[in-house]
Amino acid sequence: GRVVSNYTTAAAFENPITPSVKVNYTQLLINGNFVDSASGRTFPTHDPRTGDVIAHVAEADAEDINRAVSAARKAFDEGTWPKMTAYERSRVLFRFADLLDKHTEELATLETWDNGKPYEQAAKVELPMISRIIRYYAGWADKIHGLTVPADGPHHVQTIHEPIGVAGQIIPWNFPLLMFAWKIGPALACGNTIVLKTAEQTPLSALYAAKLIHEAGLPPGVLNVVSGFGPTAGAALASHMEVDKLAFTGSTQTGKIVLELAAKSNLKPVTLELGGKSPFIVCKDADVDKAVELAHFALFFNQGQCCCAGSRTYVHESVYDEFLEKAKTRALKRSVGDPFLAGIEQGPQIDSEQFEKILRYIRSGVESGATLETGGERIGDKGYYIQPTVFSNVKEDMLIAKDEIFGPVQSVLKFKDIDEVIGRANATSYGLAAGVFTHDLDTANTLTRALKVGTVWINCYDVFDAAIPFGGYKMSGQGREKGIHCLSNYLQVKAVVTPLKDPAWI
Ligand code: NAD
Repeated sequence: GRVVSNYTTAAAFENPITPSVKVNYTQLLINGNFVDSASGRTFPTHDPRTGDVIAHVAEADAEDINRAVSAARKAFDEGTWPKMTAYERSRVLFRFADLLDKHTEELATLETWDNGKPYEQAAKVELPMISRIIRYYAGWADKIHGLTVPADGPHHVQTIHEPIGVAGQIIPWNFPLLMFAWKIGPALACGNTIVLKTAEQTPLSALYAAKLIHEAGLPPGVLNVVSGFGPTAGAALASHMEVDKLAFTGSTQTGKIVLELAAKSNLKPVTLELGGKSPFIVCKDADVDKAVELAHFALFFNQGQCCCAGSRTYVHESVYDEFLEKAKTRALKRSVGDPFLAGIEQGPQIDSEQFEKILRYIRSGVESGATLETGGERIGDKGYYIQPTVFSNVKEDMLIAKDEIFGPVQSVLKFKDIDEVIGRANATSYGLAAGVFTHDLDTANTLTRALKVGTVWINCYDVFDAAIPFGGYKMSGQGREKGIHCLSNYLQVKAVVTPLKDPAWI
């Protein structure tokens, strides 16, 4: 392997680096044990650098989901986890976070191997965020308390927060371990038990982490991790009568399906973190060099595979030409190559399906009249590498401006004034995030209030501190993850009313 700083001259990436860890865990983790699926079936997980099989993992279907839910049910109804002191629970989570730090190399290696993301990003950016969020929720465990309610009448009224029960959690492939941590951290801190289904593209890192949390002292059955496909394992989990709550991250289309499954079964409450088509707005006062760099990061980070990718780059007409020229130069400089190499910014896309879909969107951009400034082709002849691509002259009615491409394709649109860009930025069924680039306070305030999105990043992007709530307006989701806001997803509120004097004198 070699670093290719100018991807346009890159030959195929001939000699992929052999990862330094072994894949030890490929079975289903049910009731604290690694077990085969009931059917005995397995499915392959692939290396996106080559398309080669990394390992065969046990394939869960409805019967395995039943087994996993039974284990979680028993651990909740009869086990120690919801009943132990919150302090003891927090200590398990703190020990788990320490083990995550200790095993950063193994976890980041599995993440890169299975997903294709740059190893440096996995090891230096994501793993610290992952142990951090576990510590953040470990810290919350013994700080969750109810209120005394100043109700009218001669009653003492208090609220008690109780765990909701068995949580079903379904996660995507773009940040396998980070999504695992966002999901299990709050659920466990509140005393719930879990059945989590990983994405079929990326089952490996969560199994390793689940092994670690058992080493940290998690009782068996509290966290069950299954690998499997959406319409089988995922649907069985979403529609299970013994699952008390569902949390899903993935596409809006699948979000609708799981919400319906939840409604049709036992009406379990659902939180959804779905897709986006987030605007990144470069105002006329922008320092163009900085705006280019940030807009580039907002879109290209993680191979463009972010739900909150800044995938509509709106640039004020007064800086548009300069921005475009520099954005193109920046994309050409992006280092694409084997994600295990140091200095690599972009690895391959996750799989052939996403790869083909992105190339179709690029063709559609050209056909609909947008200007392809740079990129647009695959790199090499194996694996799923795509050139960093920039389109200009993009209009809102083009598919590339409407749909979530989930790839390294930047669409640049020109605007004239703030009211106009507000209307255009909000004219989408999504509402996950927005970027605003300006030093003008009035402009920043105006945009912040007007944009119908769950996160506004002003002069920054993708800041994901554990304490910052994340989630979408409109069809980007329901509910919030991270921060204090996520706790309520995993808690019931019980109101307890006692007369101040017996008998009550109402
Ligand atoms: P997806 O939504 O289908 O998959 C996400 C998770 O849902 C996976 O674990 C999958 O197995 C599961 N799933 C799929 N069908 C299901 C069903 N019927 N019942 C229950 N669970 C089911 O996403 P995808 O097919 O991997 O990717 C398609 C598109 O989704 C991407 O191109 C991208 O636009 C979007 N996406 C968004 C995110 C995000 O973070 N918001 C993540 C991944 C993909």
